[in-house]
Amino acid sequence: MRSARRPGGGYREPVDPDGVEDAATDPLDEPVPLLDDERAAGVLEHTYGITGALTRLAGERDLNFAVRSEAGDRYLLKVLNPADRADVVAMRTGAIAHVRGVDPGLPIADVVRTTGGGAGSRVIGSDGRRSEVQLYRFLDGHVATREELGETALHGFGANAARLGRALRGYFHPAAGYPIQWDLRRAGSLADRLPLLGGESRRLAGEALGRFGTRVAPVMGAFRAQIVHNDLSRDNVLVDDAGEVVGIVDFGDMTHTALVCDLAIAIADVLDGRADSLEKARPMIAGYCALTPLEDAEAAVLGDLVATRLAAALVLNTWRRTRHRDAPAYPAGAEEFLGLVATVGFDEFSALLERDALAASSPGAAARARGGPPATAGASASAAGAGAAAAAGALPYSARETGELVAARRRVLGPLALAYGTPVHLVRGEGAYLFDADGRRYLDAYNNVPVVGHCHPAVADAIAAQSRLLVTNTRYLHEASVELAERLLAGAPAPLDRVLFVNSGSEANDVALRIARHATGGDGILATRHAYHGVTAATTDFSPEEWPADAVIPPHVRFVEPPSDARVPSERGPGMAEAAAELVASGHRPAAYFLDPAFTSDGILGPASDWVVRSVDEARAAGALFVADEVQAGFGRTGGSLWSIAASGVEPDLVTLGKPMGNGFPVAAVLASSAIVDPFMRETGYFSTFGGNTLACTAALAVLGVIEREGLVAHASEVGRHLRHVVDEVLAPHGDLHAVRSWGLLCGIELRAGSGGDLRPDTARAALVVNRLRDHGVLVGTTGPSGNVVKIRPPLAFAPADADLLATALERALRD
Ligand code: PMP
Repeated sequence: MRSARRPGGGYREPVDPDGVEDAATDPLDEPVPLLDDERAAGVLEHTYGITGALTRLAGERDLNFAVRSEAGDRYLLKVLNPADRADVVAMRTGAIAHVRGVDPGLPIADVVRTTGGGAGSRVIGSDGRRSEVQLYRFLDGHVATREELGETALHGFGANAARLGRALRGYFHPAAGYPIQWDLRRAGSLADRLPLLGGESRRLAGEALGRFGTRVAPVMGAFRAQIVHNDLSRDNVLVDDAGEVVGIVDFGDMTHTALVCDLAIAIADVLDGRADSLEKARPMIAGYCALTPLEDAEAAVLGDLVATRLAAALVLNTWRRTRHRDAPAYPAGAEEFLGLVATVGFDEFSALLERDALAASSPGAAARARGGPPATAGASASAAGAGAAAAAGALPYSARETGELVAARRRVLGPLALAYGTPVHLVRGEGAYLFDADGRRYLDAYNNVPVVGHCHPAVADAIAAQSRLLVTNTRYLHEASVELAERLLAGAPAPLDRVLFVNSGSEANDVALRIARHATGGDGILATRHAYHGVTAATTDFSPEEWPADAVIPPHVRFVEPPSDARVPSERGPGMAEAAAELVASGHRPAAYFLDPAFTSDGILGPASDWVVRSVDEARAAGALFVADEVQAGFGRTGGSLWSIAASGVEPDLVTLGKPMGNGFPVAAVLASSAIVDPFMRETGYFSTFGGNTLACTAALAVLGVIEREGLVAHASEVGRHLRHVVDEVLAPHGDLHAVRSWGLLCGIELRAGSGGDLRPDTARAALVVNRLRDHGVLVGTTGPSGNVVKIRPPLAFAPADADLLATALERALRD
């Protein structure tokens, strides 16, 4: 390293543990490149064809500019440190591409290609030094302040660190063994520079490095090692206002080293010596270990590695300031953190982090960490097995070949229907996409349950963390159910002030019916002609969508004709006043009117506010309570509001929720008013074992959090409008044979046959189109009394580009 050969450096050449030859220069000892703004703008235009405004940003060793192009796009222009080796830069660029391919959902900044298709170019600075130039997409978000991140955010930080490590574990590059002083495996070489530090700092850093030499270095060679980011500090991980990670930047310290270093560095640099650093390490460790459990030997030295990083920060940054003026400031946070460690003692700190890591890494280890009784041989073997399975990412079922799985399913699950002529064998989901066993990608334009996107990490992490912490029922006091109820009621119509938690939409409607019957003394039920409200004995009675053709309407049920689509003449059923009068006349006083305000089973007919207002008035006049069934249309699907009934202005007596509520985790609820529901609860002793359990409520809270943070309700309106526009465009040439109806991100395309005044439902073609779309990689379904309405109901994490993709596939499917 050049620094080592200059007089006055005062330390020995760093020892390279892998015997890789040291570079001639070191970016840590090389000043930031010099380039004026005009030159930088010139490079941008010449290399990338982009013109725009440049703003200088702080950079520790690179020269950075924020760019806003004339087209309004934002970028980060990086003039890399002249000492950065080209092969090391290529390693970083390759890592970004690798992560993008393996885990597309990770928020990393992509490298923008030059007009010539390269990953960057070169520039000679004003002092004659040569640098690589790279352009990155700009990521939104901000650098959190030291105290800003709460436990949930810190947990998410840890989880993202693990996720990035996972995404990188299959990556290799020949430059990965280059010598970088920030590699904690090389920390032994820092001791020579301890004299640069002042008294107390020198003593603490010396103790940390001493422990590294005796406790860590001898065992580190046996640790899991791979290319890691190696600098997941607060500066390099951008968060949104809720503290959720929205950007991971600066792969400049990336190297091949022990995997656990990523976590140790994150703990050291994110907590940065805040007063509660010692206790706040726990959520970071839990977040990391939920995805990547630590091995026992790694957990045993985690605390010492954190202390080593703090010592390295003190030594290296102090040394750099002795070399050149614009080196980073003295890291006061590192000194404070080491002070906190010294207060509890290095041994106790190490034991504390080891306990946290073991507790978070496997159930067996959790028992050991708590000092519980030794497990029996069999139990400990299976606990270790579970830990190992989790560590390896294994799942408790075996992969099967698709054909064999279809036959096996048929044998044990019977004639349970599968979607599509050729079944889809799914293995993974992410955002609006699903992946099958052959690695084929499908755009999911049908599933509303994963409302915030398949396997959203914020929801998955919250569920994982809670499942390791506590899972109990609502007989015990816990924040989750109370907070969830408060949040649900905050956005609900005024009279609703109570929440009853259950496990499915069917159960919610079943309980709502019991409440209505209890309150009214009646037993009659009103619903729409082709409704679906559930699978239980009571709800099946008013769910004709699933009935066989020869089913008989139960005596206590009457169906009303939904708002008509005048273009399809069909047999019309009775209106509400007539249906309610019939019920009364047959001796069944109406207790409840159930309505899905988006008519998702009746053929997608909403919004139909006037019709809804009138039918509710008439049902109430006959004595019924009004139940808005938001199981399908709720949680933002229709845009404008979380709840579809809001568009009509009607205040329901009861609201039922389910499907999207846990993004796949079973959780459902009934919202009611105390006047109606308190007497019911008192007189029936209402309780549901799983309803409102801590895990379910945690999942639902996480979902609400994502909907809010990602603005998904407004997003549903916007993308819904775009979807409608592109679908209309595709269908325009097909005239009367199609009718499109949409509301937010719910869209129905009715297919008809015939001509002029003689149009009839074209059920066969709807089934064909749906199967062709599946073949083209887009999943949709059908609905409506004749099954001739193609139903598009994607996760709300659906982008305009996804709508475009769907439109292209639809055009092909119709042509086919
Ligand atoms: N109500 C509506 C409007 C529904 O769409 C459904 C499910 N499709 C249910 C109730 C029943 O929900 P679950 O299947 O979760 O019991």
